[in-house]
Amino acid sequence: MTGTETTSQIEYYARALRAPRISDAFRRLGDQARDAGWSHEEYLAAVLSNEVSEREASGANLRIKAARFPGHKTLEDFNFDHQPTADRNLIAHLGTSVFLTEGKNVVLLGPPGTGKTHLAVGIGIKAAKAGHRVLFDTATGWVTRLQEAHSRGKLPAELTKLRRYSLLIVDEVGYIPFDQDAANLFFQLVSSRYEHASLIMTSNLPFARWGDVFGDLTIASAMIDRIVHHADVLNLKGTSYRLKNHQPVTSEAH
Ligand code: ADP
Ligand code: MG
Repeated sequence: MTGTETTSQIEYYARALRAPRISDAFRRLGDQARDAGWSHEEYLAAVLSNEVSEREASGANLRIKAARFPGHKTLEDFNFDHQPTADRNLIAHLGTSVFLTEGKNVVLLGPPGTGKTHLAVGIGIKAAKAGHRVLFDTATGWVTRLQEAHSRGKLPAELTKLRRYSLLIVDEVGYIPFDQDAANLFFQLVSSRYEHASLIMTSNLPFARWGDVFGDLTIASAMIDRIVHHADVLNLKGTSYRLKNHQPVTSEAH
């Protein structure tokens, strides 16, 4: 049994170390240690390891919250049987976040409902868990953000700030066409990250039609050039997962 004095000393030291979880864990682990006959060193290791893993989990949760994902979609929840055109091995590799340390990009192309946003968020959540700063927005959202910074004369500062994120996710390129100014701002975002930090982009349009989105073939091809120079491009095909339950039942289902 632990004396009250020792207990309050431990609580005091845990606060002083800014490791308040130790105050919760030391009794529980102490009981476990007595039951299992752990050595003093094993007990200390268990207390410290509990602190470290809880700290990492709460850091990951903070980064996931800060990323502003539109929903909590994980790679584990993705049904590859329904989406055979998604390369499992490649997506598993992207889930390791190695591509971020290489400043590589990912482009997810395909019709609506084929899982582009789901996969982008799933890869983003993995990255946040691995300790990377991530920020998600739609293409329109990014442009609004850049326009705001530009109108305050702060575009370079904003781009520098964004470079501190290892991963930016740009969802839904192509749903809304950009005017010339928006296209230029977007181009600057892509250029400022080129070979430094990663982007994941999703689009319902093939690259050949990005000229229509950016209103200018030259800008579009200069941008695509930078994006795909170091990128994995996934072409998703098939029907919308959203309509899955509205399709006629096939004979295989019986
Ligand atoms: P897109 O961005 O390509 O339009 P989403 O990723 O938003 O499509 O997918 C639409 C909905 O269907 C989401 O709720 C998503 O979680 C779900 N979904 C799509 N594909 C799959 C899949 N293969 N496995 C599980 N859920 C999926
Ligand atoms: Mg989407």
